[in-house]
Amino acid sequence: MSSSIDNITCPKCGGNAQRETDHKTGEVYDHCTVCDYEEVIVEGQDLYILTIWKGVEPVLTGPYKDAEVREQALIALKKEHGAESSYFPVDMTAGAAIEIGVFG
Ligand SMILES: [Zn+2]
Repeated sequence: MSSSIDNITCPKCGGNAQRETDHKTGEVYDHCTVCDYEEVIVEGQDLYILTIWKGVEPVLTGPYKDAEVREQALIALKKEHGAESSYFPVDMTAGAAIEIGVFG
């Protein structure tokens, strides 16, 4: 397993927390043994939602910091635009440029 553990200062209580970094996936897991603070950060990936608005117009929203936040955004988008639009998850390498166009 290619992961490492570093000691960090807990952003919540200021106590001694640990940061576990998975070098394979780029996932960073912060957890504090003093309070219940924990946070999972997936580095190296930007999460977006591609909406095909009513089948005609592509709209990219994001990036979202994790899958859970994106899920919430998806629920909000569905509420706003309804079933006439289609939604697709887009996972990209962090910082990569994407351009979505329409054939003219
Ligand atoms: Zn803490």
